[in-house]
Amino acid sequence: MDDVAAATRIVNAGRRAAWTGAVVNPPVWRASTHLYQDTAALFEGRRTNEEGRFFYGRRGAPTQWALADALTSLEPGAAGTVLYPSGVAAIAGVMLTLLRPGDVLLVADNAYDPTRSMGTGLLSDLGVETRFYDPLDPKAYAALFCERTRAVLLEAPGSLSMEVCDVPLLASIAREKGATSVLDNTWAGPLGFQGLERGVDVVVMALTKHVGGHSDLMMGSASAGPQLYAQLRERAQQLGNIVSPDDAALALRGLRTLHLRLKQETESALTIAGHLAERPEIAQVLCPMLPGAPGHELWQRDFTGGCGLFSFVFRGSSAAARNRFVDALRLFGIGYSWGGFESLVVPVEPSGYRSVMSWPPGGADGDDRYGVRLSIGLEDPADLIADLEQALDAWREA
Ligand SMILES: *Cc1c(COP(=O)(O)O)cnc(C)c1O
Repeated sequence: MDDVAAATRIVNAGRRAAWTGAVVNPPVWRASTHLYQDTAALFEGRRTNEEGRFFYGRRGAPTQWALADALTSLEPGAAGTVLYPSGVAAIAGVMLTLLRPGDVLLVADNAYDPTRSMGTGLLSDLGVETRFYDPLDPKAYAALFCERTRAVLLEAPGSLSMEVCDVPLLASIAREKGATSVLDNTWAGPLGFQGLERGVDVVVMALTKHVGGHSDLMMGSASAGPQLYAQLRERAQQLGNIVSPDDAALALRGLRTLHLRLKQETESALTIAGHLAERPEIAQVLCPMLPGAPGHELWQRDFTGGCGLFSFVFRGSSAAARNRFVDALRLFGIGYSWGGFESLVVPVEPSGYRSVMSWPPGGADGDDRYGVRLSIGLEDPADLIADLEQALDAWREA
């Protein structure tokens, strides 16, 4: 199925007849135990599990395999995909596969905050040293490598502040230095950025966001070429990582409409971001899909799609005024996460989650530091704009 468009691949991905039987979707296989005919079949079971046959619940069943297989077929260059119970579990599973005591891990300064905390918490406890780098400064990044640098974590666009780094360049520098590169590709997903094809070694996603797409499940994935995939799979087994077949079925359902939702979200986000960019109350719109916004050129060069997640920063605001704006919104739920069918908003002031990058971004006025992140859902964008307008009125009155 390599010769067809992404939309066609998404419809057909993972639907092997051996797993679906005579129906369209793989049934929800609720099972821990496989019963064998005799001892010979029992002894044979472990071997045939490698070929995609049911052996024991912790090693997955056709429902989970269908999802993993679908994700693999959407990621050019992937030999396989491991599923994890959350996006953070996926990042932890990858790091616990790659790193040993004494190793150094480089983490993008604008990475998802729990990823940063994993470096300074869990990994530090295990004797791994985490160093943060500015992903917009490839020279300083290259200079950080030493003989102990084993892995690099990239994320584009960056969490909350949405900077776009040169992923192919940073990945190639890592490879030159003998380190494994890991990309958190949750924002773009496989339709918007082809990480392995662009030189990254492991692509991680929080399926909780766009693949689930309906704010009702937690899951993560890691896809890689043959050697790394085998290592990831083995470590996930040792860690006892498994996702429920019910959640896998939900994620597969979400996946089937991923391209449609992303297309609509991207179109709405561009309309809304363009509108906000014209407003005098707003200092910066941090939406790399928007022409003229920070990161747009690299986004246009490297990405094949976008989504509805972007941020903006108020001009000369206070935290209180910004919070009043958020509280005034009626169509945006106040809450973490993103990538669901419904619009969400969270306050943004990431200076507490940065070690080497500056905030506000791009050397802006120090007063222009309070922002929000919007996750644009499937509502009519005109209604969302009207809602943002009335909340801006509340901001002005604050
Ligand atoms: C949400 C998120 C994660 C973590 O996913 P969970 O399923 O919530 O653990 C990782 N990376 C990014 C960029 C995210 O937005």
